[in-house]
Amino acid sequence: MRLRFPLRRPNRLVGAMLILTLGLSAQSALAAGPALAAPAGAAVSPLNTAFATAAARYDVPRDLLVALGYAETRLDGHGGAPSASGGYGLMHLTSNPAVRTLDEASALTGLERAVLRTDAAANIAGAAAVLRSYADRAGLTAADHTDIGLWYGAIVRYGGATDPAVARLYADTVYDLLVAGFTAPADAALKVAGRRITPDRGALARVPALGTGDVGTMSTDYGPAAWAPAYSGNYTVANRPSDYRVNYVVIHVTQGSYAGSISWFQNPAAKASAHYTFRSSDGAVTQSVREKDIAWHAGNWTYNTQSIGIEHEGYVDDPSWFTDAMYRASAALTRNLANKYGIPKDRTHIIGHIEVPGATHTDPGPNWNWTYYMQLVNGVTGIGTGTVKTGGGTLNVRSGPGTSYAIVGSVADGATVSIYCQATGTTVTGTYGTSNIWNRIGTNRYISDAYVLTGYDGFIPNVPRC
Ligand SMILES: [Zn+2]
Repeated sequence: MRLRFPLRRPNRLVGAMLILTLGLSAQSALAAGPALAAPAGAAVSPLNTAFATAAARYDVPRDLLVALGYAETRLDGHGGAPSASGGYGLMHLTSNPAVRTLDEASALTGLERAVLRTDAAANIAGAAAVLRSYADRAGLTAADHTDIGLWYGAIVRYGGATDPAVARLYADTVYDLLVAGFTAPADAALKVAGRRITPDRGALARVPALGTGDVGTMSTDYGPAAWAPAYSGNYTVANRPSDYRVNYVVIHVTQGSYAGSISWFQNPAAKASAHYTFRSSDGAVTQSVREKDIAWHAGNWTYNTQSIGIEHEGYVDDPSWFTDAMYRASAALTRNLANKYGIPKDRTHIIGHIEVPGATHTDPGPNWNWTYYMQLVNGVTGIGTGTVKTGGGTLNVRSGPGTSYAIVGSVADGATVSIYCQATGTTVTGTYGTSNIWNRIGTNRYISDAYVLTGYDGFIPNVPRC
């Protein structure tokens, strides 16, 4: 919001008005104290206990197990439903012709596959057993087990990638998480502290990491993309656009991890591919099929021949994967493709997999924000800034644009925030008057504009609507 009146030192009247607002309605977005607290009972999280139990039983570092699960699924088992590549549970125990970690886990633990697929503690124990068997075969001794860097080869093998660059991408993803540290979004007890590690990459130390700009690993179609070609039996060679006009961009969600999806397109069992895949955390992109060729992504030959397929790392039922970094990077590619092939930048031509006639898939699903995405595709790409003024206390951050959404954090009085998009929501009266505008300051993180000085009374020009 624009500053309607000069901000003075907060006085008793303003304080009283704020208290009145808090007392009279559920509309206030202001919290009196720190709004972010660990959920009650976090210390007895069943998942945290399951990780500790599995780690102790199989003598595998607990943090390695948690990081592996976080990289694969953000520690969400999706009720036992399979990923695109046949992976199950929060540890993504897999059963496909090339990767058989589910079967190995069953043999090692004596647990039924159905239990390993659906029971979180069993799934974690199964993954621990598989990793330990790989470590044993690699010659790790009991004394080696506490050195997390020595488990790199076991992680590579668990991922099952055949391309060395993709294998390194897979394992580096897990080790990058261990270095940075993280907390699981759904379970504050599932926390891994950052640390220094020297991963023992073995022969993969000499393989350039995917997408780092080394000669031969980058796309020739789209500058920012790394190149990791799909298996030749997973797409059709063509000469587009001279033999088939490119009329559509089809938006997908991987139902799997970034490295896992790129690896899957290299697996002869997949019988599927997409041209590009984006990473959730930072919007990095890898190309698997040349744009002139026909990727098998839409489940409809006519649409496959006329489209470019773009995958986005994540699962349709979990909005936390759909980051601003990924939306913005993907929209930049779609905009580039639309300009290159003369595709209208509208929802008739930029479509979801679910909109392909005969589609059996539902991606990108209801959590994909088409309003935001299409504005980015059409060049409304600004990022606003604002200064939070509460007059004391912190401002609640909500998971959506309204006071009925869950509190997911707080921002301090005086903090500067980036505003990726703006939405209308609950009307709130705050430091800068009354407003129904909410500012998205991160993935699924919103604050009321009534407490934010943006320089504008309404929407900020060139910042997209959410
Ligand atoms: Zn799809």
